[in-house]
Amino acid sequence: MLKRNSHPAGRHFLQIPGPTNVPDGVLRAIDYPTIDHRGPEFAALGRKVLAEIRQVFQTRQPVVIYPGSGTGAWEAALVNALSPGDTVLMVETGHFASLWKKMAGNLGLQPEFIAGDWRSGVDASRIEARLAEDKARAIKAVCVVHNETSTGVTSDIAAVRRAIDSAGHPALLLVDTISSLASIDYRHDEWGVDVTVGGSQKGLMLPPGLGFNAVSEKALAAAGRSRFPRSYWRWDEIIEANQGGYWPYTPSTNLLYGLSAALDQLLAEGLPNVFARHRRFGEATRAAVRAWGLEILCRNPAEYSDSLTAVVMPDGHDADALRALILEKFDMSLGTGLSKLKGRVFRIGHLGDFNDLTLMGALAGVEMGLALAGVPHRAGGVQAAMDRLRAAAVGPLPGERKAA
Ligand SMILES: *Cc1c(COP(=O)(O)O)cnc(C)c1O
Repeated sequence: MLKRNSHPAGRHFLQIPGPTNVPDGVLRAIDYPTIDHRGPEFAALGRKVLAEIRQVFQTRQPVVIYPGSGTGAWEAALVNALSPGDTVLMVETGHFASLWKKMAGNLGLQPEFIAGDWRSGVDASRIEARLAEDKARAIKAVCVVHNETSTGVTSDIAAVRRAIDSAGHPALLLVDTISSLASIDYRHDEWGVDVTVGGSQKGLMLPPGLGFNAVSEKALAAAGRSRFPRSYWRWDEIIEANQGGYWPYTPSTNLLYGLSAALDQLLAEGLPNVFARHRRFGEATRAAVRAWGLEILCRNPAEYSDSLTAVVMPDGHDADALRALILEKFDMSLGTGLSKLKGRVFRIGHLGDFNDLTLMGALAGVEMGLALAGVPHRAGGVQAAMDRLRAAAVGPLPGERKAA
């Protein structure tokens, strides 16, 4: 058996921005015996998760569920909605936007990248200006990352929609919501998104292994015209089989049990409450970082991510050395700096199956780690976060009635 915990007792703190902690109830659900994926019991499961997942994407349109990672769902979005040689407009918000752009190039698309500083979100006015210039309508899609997991920056997707509409441009809108779905408000229908890409292992609180595409009518029509050779990723065959609650191939039966349990938990809490909880974690974490006197990587407070915070290390101090020390001493995993941010930032994941006291434990581990590693900072981040959480918890005491 692989040694999974560096400490013999207590629970590992998995504070990376995905995969996130899987609730016990979801783990138990995944543990049920696998059933016949062509049988009646499966169809009931399939219909349930396919209906309920739409609520999480805030859509009435089909959501395709793949056995696959988020990267697979990125590819599915591109090869269904587009054709080889199409120009796609993408925005360099960070590591994940850069990977999606690289994939577009690998597939034979022509990605055009609006350069970014890896500290800011999507500037919708630049998208509008570029689309307005595109008189020949060569750009077939605008692809953006809603929550850039490498930087902790959340972009305004409604503003991107308005920019496309103001330019009067027919391009499709493709959005990666892998690290925001079910933690930060996201509205596929209201924001007029054509393809939304999701993954199982972040806000949905599942292990890695499921990828999602929410698909608009316009995107389905585009898929009908696509000249990409594709088979496994084809939306049409999957959506047809899904009518009966089935898949054209063997789906991830046990992960779908888990999805069903995770959806029960999320919908029982209520999405507005889920979003408010993550907002509280984001605010408390940022209060801690400010009290430490450290810098939040995200430049614009309107774009702060509520699912993770990237913290800039003071010059001359290595984020990965700090992370290694915290793992060794306190059994907590923090997110590493990705590609050009390597060593310069660490990321605190605060999404998924997570409550106020989990956050306090995580922040205490960071504050002790900063002290032990000799990183210049002020004490008191934990106290600042605690003050925020206590203020948020003020309300009627148990047994008291709310004043009318
Ligand atoms: C995690 C993540 C991905 C990649 O998903 P995988 O499941 O690792 O393939 C893509 N985009 C964003 C924004 C992510 O957070």
